[in-house]
Amino acid sequence: MIEVHHIDKSYGSLTVLKDINWQVRRGQFWGVIGPNGSGKSTLISLLSGVEKPNRGQIKLGGRRISEYKRKELSRKLAVLQQDGLPPVAYPVREVIEMGRFPFQNWRGRENSEAARQLMDEIMAKLELNELASRPLHVLSGGQRQRVALGKVMAQQPEIVLLDEPTTYLDIRHQVQFMELVAGWQREAGLTVISVMHDLNLAALYCDQLLVLHQGRVVAEGTPEQIINSEMIESVFHVKSHIV
Ligand code: ATP
Ligand code: MG
Repeated sequence: MIEVHHIDKSYGSLTVLKDINWQVRRGQFWGVIGPNGSGKSTLISLLSGVEKPNRGQIKLGGRRISEYKRKELSRKLAVLQQDGLPPVAYPVREVIEMGRFPFQNWRGRENSEAARQLMDEIMAKLELNELASRPLHVLSGGQRQRVALGKVMAQQPEIVLLDEPTTYLDIRHQVQFMELVAGWQREAGLTVISVMHDLNLAALYCDQLLVLHQGRVVAEGTPEQIINSEMIESVFHVKSHIV
């Protein structure tokens, strides 16, 4: 359902992605791994339509991403950026409601019972009811990341793009976050593409991995096929590893 054909991406004279070809099928859970600067976030920006490739094309459901209107694309695809949510003073529940923006018309807020019910479900599932009226900026990093997940859930997308979503979380909250994503994926038949640094988490939650190295795809396959000492040595340039 996502087809990436011969993508090149440059910033000035710096070529960041080179001839990327990739197919993602509905319901798959992909991990994108690779060293710092290998082009992972750039690939996420291209998939979300924020950046445009210099060459090649990306199709979603058979249509080029560039043909989608902004709101139309946001009803299909949600993104959790590497930097997470900014520490604004909006209350938690309102931040999550912002995820409904692609479904709102020029009059603004939705008033439907179904939308209210969806909010209640998300608040309960993410255990955010106690925090509902607290402003986002007073929350801990882990709590804020749960709110960020709630906001993308409110978008009810078919595809979710996560860029290192567990970076600032302790081990317990990393697992809690990934469990929430995995549960949502199973229930909604969601397609997940997540940039990951932790290969243990990647092995636990992803059914497919894409390995980027210096802007190229150097391997793809199941975690069992991909995570081994030769790959870690050639891509990450370390001999010993903790996997
Ligand atoms: P990290 O693991 O550190 O997040 P990454 O794999 O996500 O790294 P990218 O953020 O995609 O890497 O960056 C790849 C390269 O592209 C880097 O050299 C970066 O400096 C460059 N780059 C990314 N975005 C821009 C931009 N908007 N303008 C110029 N250069 C950019
Ligand atoms: Mg990045």
